[in-house]
Parts: sequence; C-alpha cells; structure tokens
Amino acid sequence: MALTVGVIGGGQLARMMIPAAIDLGIDLRVLAENAGESADLAVKQLGDHRNRDDVLRFAESVDVVTFDHEHVPQEILHELVARGVRVHPGPDALLYAQDKLLMRRRLSELGIPVPVWARIETGEDLQLFLDDNGGRAVVKTARGGYDGKGVRIVTSPGEVDDWLALGESLLAEEVVDFRRELAQSVARRPSGDIVAWPVVESVQRDGVCAEVIAPAPASAGKLADVASEIAHTIAAGLGVTGVLAVELFETTDDRLLVNELAMRPHNTGHWSIEGSATSQFEQHLRAVLDLPLGATGCRDRWSVMVNILGGPDSGTLADRYPAAFEDQPTVKVHNYGKEPRPGRKVGHVTAGGDDLDQVVYQARAAAAHFDSGDLG
Ligand code: ADP
Repeated sequence: MALTVGVIGGGQLARMMIPAAIDLGIDLRVLAENAGESADLAVKQLGDHRNRDDVLRFAESVDVVTFDHEHVPQEILHELVARGVRVHPGPDALLYAQDKLLMRRRLSELGIPVPVWARIETGEDLQLFLDDNGGRAVVKTARGGYDGKGVRIVTSPGEVDDWLALGESLLAEEVVDFRRELAQSVARRPSGDIVAWPVVESVQRDGVCAEVIAPAPASAGKLADVASEIAHTIAAGLGVTGVLAVELFETTDDRLLVNELAMRPHNTGHWSIEGSATSQFEQHLRAVLDLPLGATGCRDRWSVMVNILGGPDSGTLADRYPAAFEDQPTVKVHNYGKEPRPGRKVGHVTAGGDDLDQVVYQARAAAAHFDSGDLG
C-alpha cells in the first residue's frame, strides 16, 4: 500500500504531521515556499502554492495531496483532480473554507445556524444592514483573513471604505452576544465515516486563539450533542475529507452559531496530541489516506493548551527551556521552529490532569516562561 502524503504549505500544521507520519511509516513530503519554514524536517520541495507548475510537479511525487492552509487557487486544485490526483479535502469542499461569503450561504442552505449576515457591495448596503441590526456590525473580507485580520466591528460604512474600494464583496454579520467560543473538530474519510472529538472551549485574545480547554467545561449532554451534530452535518454536506474544525459561538441565549470553518488540523485541536487517543495530525493523515479512523476519547479528564506568541525580545524558545522544564515538568512544550516575530504563533504548551484549576495553572505557568521579557 502506497503511503506518500504531500502537504501543501510548510507551516506548523505540516510540521506537527511529521511525528505522526514517522510513527505510521508514512512518507510525508511538503511543498514549502522558503527554506527554513516550520516543516523543514520533512522531505520538501520548494515552490509556490499559487504556481501551477510547482504544484503539479509536487503532486506527481505523492499519492495524496493535502494542505497546511487554504490558499491554493481553485483552478490549480481542479486541474489536479482532472489529472487523477487524490486531493483531500477536494476543491469543492475547500471552496467553503476559502470564501466566507460562499460558506455563509451554503451553511444557511444546509439549515446550519449562523449569525444574521448579508453580502455587502457598497456603503449603502452596509448602512441598511446597520440600520436593521442595532447600528453595529462585524464586517469581514470574504477571502484571505486569518487570526482576526480581515475582521472589523463597525458602526458606519466609512470604516470599511478601504475594503470597499478594492471592489470585492464583503460579509456583514450581526455582532453576536456570545458567552464563549467553542470549537468542534471531526474527521471524515472519503468513504464517508466520520468521528468527532469532544467539543472544546477556545479563548481568543485580539482575534487570536490564546487558550483551549478540552473538553469545554459544562458541555456534557445536549451542548456536546448539538455541536457534534452540526459538525457532522457540515462534514457530510460539504463533502469534507480530512479534519474539519468548526468554530462556534455559544450565545447568551443558549444557541450555537457557526462562525468559521477550517478544513485541516486547527489550533483548537492541538491539545489532542497528548490529550486524545488519536491526535488530529494522525487522524488527518489516516483520513486523507482513507484508512479507518482512530478513537477520539480523552486521555486526561482535562487538557489545556496555551499558545506561545512571539514578542519584541523573545530570543529563542529554547533559551527558556531550563526554567520552564524545571518549573513545570509535566507540561509538554511544542516549538514550531519559527522566528519569534511579535504576535506570531511560535509554539504552544499542553497540560493534562484531573483538576481543571491545576491544569490551567500549570499550562499558563509554563507558557509564561516563554513570554517576551521573561528571559532569566
Ligand atoms: P479569522 O478568520 O481571522 O479567524 P473570524 O471570523 O474567526 O476571523 O473572527 C475572529 C474573531 O472575531 C472571532 O474568534 C470572534 O472572537 C470575533 N468575531 C467574529 N465574528 C463575530 C461576530 N459575528 N460577532 C461577534 N464576534 C465575532
């Protein structure tokens, strides 16, 4: 059985697939834009994911193509499929992770609960939406946003003049009154089987995921069932293959609304490396190879993941290992091997155990050793 998987994109998600690939004897290859990217340890080809020839050449050397990001153009993906390359997730599914307007429309058609939304082409469109929605709206660029870039809360159309001037349609949404943000990950094989991990709580700071608690506190029962059912419906309805992460708002009036979709391993699933019977990275590889999926139960009662962001004086993360390891010997540290530029995700830590307060404390204490200015 041929087991060569090609990952387009050389970031930390591709990097964290490497240990799982090693364990399963999978030959993992990466198409990275530059030398020295996070997934440098895998056999790599340098190339541009927007360049047809680079992508086609890469695809020739692998059995299955998958992704570390959503940015490969649709025309290239369709050409791969037309040439008989196995692409997971395929272009018709990936489209909805590439374009937030198409995603909102399709989820509405599937009967999935989403925030009130509208397509905005002009300042007048936005003014009408503001008038109907209490004078405030969240406006998003349909394509290319990540980590809160491409998201603005506005009270007047003038605040997105620069985006409107680009001539692209925008997505306007009601400002959701949410109690907390949740994320539900599932994995789906091309043959149709789907498995779900427990729903998790994610804490965002400045539009960036800061912490994840797995499972989400007080989620047993109906909340977990509804979250899982939503993700199952989306995975099957859009024909997603591989890991699908569904970001959700839990509203103050007890509804779950879908915010975002990611069709790849996701930051809110990093806890699964140590915390689940099958990590999202192993599961993604199994799913794209159409192999039976692994169990998704928790190894620990609670897992807490805290992201490490680069800061002005971060130095290298390894400089902090002596103090961090001494202080928190049970916490697991993941270093993405990236330049610690301010605000950039450069690593994460995960703690696990029975007592949630203690697990949160341990994870935060370990992560604090990697904060900028804390080198000592
Ligand atoms: P990105 O694709 O950049 O991650 P998201 O659409 O996920 O952007 O939005 C980033 C963050 O902005 C969300 O995690 C949430 O905290 C906030 N946000 C997004 N949409 C809404 C909304 N409709 N109402 C309230 N907050 C929102």
